[in-house]
Amino acid sequence: MTRTRPHWLFADQLGPGFLEPGPGGPDPDAPVVLIECRSVLRRRAFHRAKAHLVLSALRHRAAELGARARYVRADSYREGLREAVGKAAVTVRHPTSRAALGLVRALPQTEVLPPRGFLTDFAFFRTWAEGRGRRRLLLEDFYRKVRERHDLLLDGGEPAGGRWNLDADNRERPPRGGDRLPVDPPWWPQEDAIDEEVRADLDRWERRGEVRLLGRDGPRRFPVTRAEAEQALAHFLARRLPDFGRWEDAMLAGDPWMAHSLLSVPLNLGLLDPLECVRGAEAAYRAGTAPLNSVEGFVRQVAGWREYVWQLYWHLGEEHRTANALGHRADIPDWFAELDADAVEASCLRHALAEVRDVGWTHHIPRLMLLGNWALQHGWDPRQVTDWFHRAFVDGYDWVMVPNVTGMSQYADAGLMTTKPYAAGGAYIHRMSDFCGSCRYRPHERTGPRACPYTTGYWGFVAGHRALLAGNPRTARAVSGLARLDDLEAVLDVERRRAAAPP
Ligand SMILES: Cc1cc2nc3c(=O)[nH]c(=O)nc-3n(C[C@H](O)[C@H](O)[C@H](O)COP(=O)(O)OP(=O)(O)OC[C@H]3O[C@@H](n4cnc5c(N)ncnc54)[C@H](O)[C@@H]3O)c2cc1C
Ligand code: SF4
Repeated sequence: MTRTRPHWLFADQLGPGFLEPGPGGPDPDAPVVLIECRSVLRRRAFHRAKAHLVLSALRHRAAELGARARYVRADSYREGLREAVGKAAVTVRHPTSRAALGLVRALPQTEVLPPRGFLTDFAFFRTWAEGRGRRRLLLEDFYRKVRERHDLLLDGGEPAGGRWNLDADNRERPPRGGDRLPVDPPWWPQEDAIDEEVRADLDRWERRGEVRLLGRDGPRRFPVTRAEAEQALAHFLARRLPDFGRWEDAMLAGDPWMAHSLLSVPLNLGLLDPLECVRGAEAAYRAGTAPLNSVEGFVRQVAGWREYVWQLYWHLGEEHRTANALGHRADIPDWFAELDADAVEASCLRHALAEVRDVGWTHHIPRLMLLGNWALQHGWDPRQVTDWFHRAFVDGYDWVMVPNVTGMSQYADAGLMTTKPYAAGGAYIHRMSDFCGSCRYRPHERTGPRACPYTTGYWGFVAGHRALLAGNPRTARAVSGLARLDDLEAVLDVERRRAAAPP
């Protein structure tokens, strides 16, 4: 008789799908090992809300599994596994980081099962990528293949509505004259005794100097159980998806959530499966309760970007993490690293940093065009920036941060993921937000005391990388623009004098 091997779940493998038995799955009714690994928290300063979410999700899962769970608190994963099962054989699903994969492969007792939680497997990506070369791995093309593979939002093999890409309909400016979008608020969870216990533990560990945490842990904002994740998804699909598309790129000072789904946390904890999210969105379109631009926009994020980033993390290898094509070496200043939003006067950056401090989350445009753009303009070391995003964001994991930050936001790979750097001045921020009205700076001013720091930063960036940017058809115009600036020296002087101080 074969013995049932215990199955080890990492903290981002918590949904029911990870325990489904069958080919490539764990043994039926396998005992479940969950390890609360203290050294992960000790090594680096994570956001308090992130530490809370991960510990709360793990402990909730153990409580749900009851007698089936072997919950261990240990200094390291090796020690935890020893305590849970000794040297017995265990199964574990392919982890989401290269470090964790190295660890489980090095343990002779573990059998590594295929990953879960994504719409594409490695073979699908390899087949698609074969023959394309590293510089031809374009999101748009990959996204279409994913839709075809899953028959997603297609009518007779053609894209629903006749277009694959409705981005052009999804770039509206925020509505003027209102603090918030006219959209139902997001779903919020109710905390329970486990949350209270987690918060007390974190406070105690911090008092004893065992961990150092960043930011604030206000009311928990994201799901930590499958039941909560289902409620959050259902609420989004019914109440917020219809407005997701049009204001997808817009920002309002009084409405950090806009019409975004807030589902990255439950997706990345493994509590939601991406297929149920995109099928749910498609069902809303077919039922006539959500317009195509919103549904395509959401499907593109989940079936396109999320899959693409997951696959590139593995495909591009460890050297992607250390890429630094722009030669950026500056250290992240303390005010930014420590989320000191109160030190910042520039309204847009102050709001973005305050959101990170208070909830560990901002939507994709503040990440890219405020925080990432600032780091890029100021030549911060992309590895430090990636590490900061990973620690400071509630949905940050190695696989998702390396491509998004090193590749997309910091252009450290010289354009493997994007056709041009995401550097922009105040004019873009002014167009897409209501921040500038209350700011002490003016988006179109380049010199003088009211010169917008994003605008001067933008010209500083173009001037600093003019040779590289001149050779790219998508940025060559910016370099010609530089030649036409009659006050360039004065602009660069403002930039130099600001240096690393908070703007
Ligand atoms: C610099 C930078 C760093 C980022 N870091 C992370 C991160 O650590 N973790 C993370 O999950 N996302 C990250 N993203 C992608 C995106 O910003 C977040 O997924 C999104 O803001 C989460 O909020 P939401 O769930 O409301 O997303 P929505 O706007 O509602 O989008 C729906 C879902 O699409 C997926 N998605 C969209 N874009 C991406 C992407 N580029 N990469 C991966 N998934 C995507 C997410 O699962 C998200 O929940 C980053 C983007 C940038 C530009
Ligand atoms: S003026 Fe510049 S710094 Fe101020 S909010 Fe606008 S873009 Fe940001």
